[in-house]
Amino acid sequence: AISVRNLSKHFGKKRALDNVSLEIQRGEMVALIGASGSGKSTLIRHICGLEIGQAGQDRAGQSRIEVLGGAMQDGGRLAAKARNMRRNIGVVFQQFNLVGRMSVLSNVLLGNLGHIPGWRGTLGLFTAGEKQKAREALARVGIPEVAWQRASTLSGGQQQRAAIARTLVQRSNILLADEPIASLDPSSARRVMEILAAVNRDEKITCVVSLHQVEYARRYCPRTIALRDGRIVFDGPSSALTNQMLVELYGDNSEELI
Ligand code: ATP
Ligand code: MG
Repeated sequence: AISVRNLSKHFGKKRALDNVSLEIQRGEMVALIGASGSGKSTLIRHICGLEIGQAGQDRAGQSRIEVLGGAMQDGGRLAAKARNMRRNIGVVFQQFNLVGRMSVLSNVLLGNLGHIPGWRGTLGLFTAGEKQKAREALARVGIPEVAWQRASTLSGGQQQRAAIARTLVQRSNILLADEPIASLDPSSARRVMEILAAVNRDEKITCVVSLHQVEYARRYCPRTIALRDGRIVFDGPSSALTNQMLVELYGDNSEELI
């Protein structure tokens, strides 16, 4: 479902991604782990076409990203169809997922417009059927009672669940979640991870979840990809990633992940 080949990205002198290649099959649930600054968000932003990789800077050839069999970007250019392709990719960020002054239901309804964070709309734009689907999505993530609340009044965990509901309304085939549990207490974090795992299992949505702690990767994601300084240093079964291995891979930074 996702193919990244030879992707590099520099910000000035800083190398945020260094020749990253990975293949993720349809229906997989993959954790992306790495210490702060290792490139997790940058990689996710490239996959959904919010950031463009660099052509010709990598050693092994031109960078290319494919999503669901079509090119998202190639050789440092965004594909012509990228805008349409984004409709198939739901994104949940660490924060600022919702338009705070709008109701939760309105925020979820925005999924009907594809991935347009921050778009301001009104309930009047949507049909009764769409509203019903949005309410079902809120029920699916366990927060049907907050539909009419302003989004700004939700707890952190509720906000993340509403953002997941929006991707369900969007009917995306791929869900990219960038540290969706980073600011949550352990029980809210478990709830959000359980919902992501259930969505992956029941709706067959391919999930890529970036995480700070390997514990959650081991528990909820069969496969882990670990980044260090913009490079993939591990890609395999999460159960194979031992704490000892993390210490070897990350040195002092391993404390952040264990
Ligand atoms: P965290 O766990 O803290 O969210 P991360 O793994 O998501 O970290 P990224 O945000 O991808 O890391 O950043 C990777 C590197 O690229 C960092 O050194 C960061 O400072 C740098 N970087 C990312 N975006 C930009 C930007 N727009 N301009 C300059 N540097 C950037
Ligand atoms: Mg990040």
